[in-house]
Amino acid sequence: MIVVVKPDASKERRDQLIEWLKGQGLDIHVSEGRFQTVLGLIGDTSQVDMELIESLDIVDSVKRITERFKNSNRKFHPEDTVIDVRGVKIGGGNFCMIAGPCSVETEDQIVAVAKAVKASGADMLRGGAFKPRTSPYDFQGLKGTGIELLKIASEETGLPIVSEIMSFSDLPLFEDVDVLQVGARNMQNFDLLKELGKVNKPILLKRGLANTLNELLMSAEYIMAGGNEQVILCERGIRTFGDYLRNTLDLSAVPMLHELSHLPVIVDPSHATGIARMVPPMALSAAACGADGLIIEVHNDPIHALCDGAQSLTPEDFDLLAEKIRRVREALA
Ligand code: PEP
Ligand code: MN
Repeated sequence: MIVVVKPDASKERRDQLIEWLKGQGLDIHVSEGRFQTVLGLIGDTSQVDMELIESLDIVDSVKRITERFKNSNRKFHPEDTVIDVRGVKIGGGNFCMIAGPCSVETEDQIVAVAKAVKASGADMLRGGAFKPRTSPYDFQGLKGTGIELLKIASEETGLPIVSEIMSFSDLPLFEDVDVLQVGARNMQNFDLLKELGKVNKPILLKRGLANTLNELLMSAEYIMAGGNEQVILCERGIRTFGDYLRNTLDLSAVPMLHELSHLPVIVDPSHATGIARMVPPMALSAAACGADGLIIEVHNDPIHALCDGAQSLTPEDFDLLAEKIRRVREALA
């Protein structure tokens, strides 16, 4: 349920209302917008007297929310959430370009890629240190050493870092990682999501291989219910009967998620397609349909990459793409 408070209501009367609602066993999410304040009521609202609340002179309207996701719901928080990562903003019209290799391999590799993508205008560096691979015999990442190498690349370039966390017990290693990525395979690892709800860092939550938008938003809800409201949603392709690409990029998810939620939505065209030459057209389409950013795999030697070389752009290709993305964004403005 949401209660829209009139713009001229005094803070004192509003606080009294909040306390009274809390007294009924509810949690209250307050969203203070430029033109109105929305109180989101979380918990069992079946006994709440809607008509009584509506009759209060400081209340504009009261509505029931039928969706099971509350904190991530745009009805609870009408304005776009803007997430700030060391000065880099995502959401609410701020477009964020995240680029880097699938996995961190060597210091030379990560530093070279970081410098190249930074020169092309990337805002953040990605790099996997813990890799969830389909086969247990594939390269699983450099783990703690990988994070140390990411830190070196971040110090050299000033780029904030995004890296995937697979297990909560690894959290101490991620102290200097700016954004924690939850991979597609862990989107419904609810124990991990609950723990990440207690962390004060943005979470990049990828859509699962076969998950609906409702399920993605319910996973975001697990993180937000724990108190961490900094969630970035990521469409990275889903399994369908498409046969020539790694996945099917569901670009229609972008405007739909924007309608349903206030959280930023970014697109990963690399894992969605699995083929480097398919990445630029899909990245441009994502920018055109309103994505708040992109996460793109870039490698300085794709043929020898330890992971996902086939879908990795060279720094030169990334540079050309970044320029085209800027032009698409200008055309939309
Ligand atoms: C990745 O970003 O390297 C990755 C493994 O992505 P996903 O979880 O989307 O497959
Ligand atoms: Mn990858």
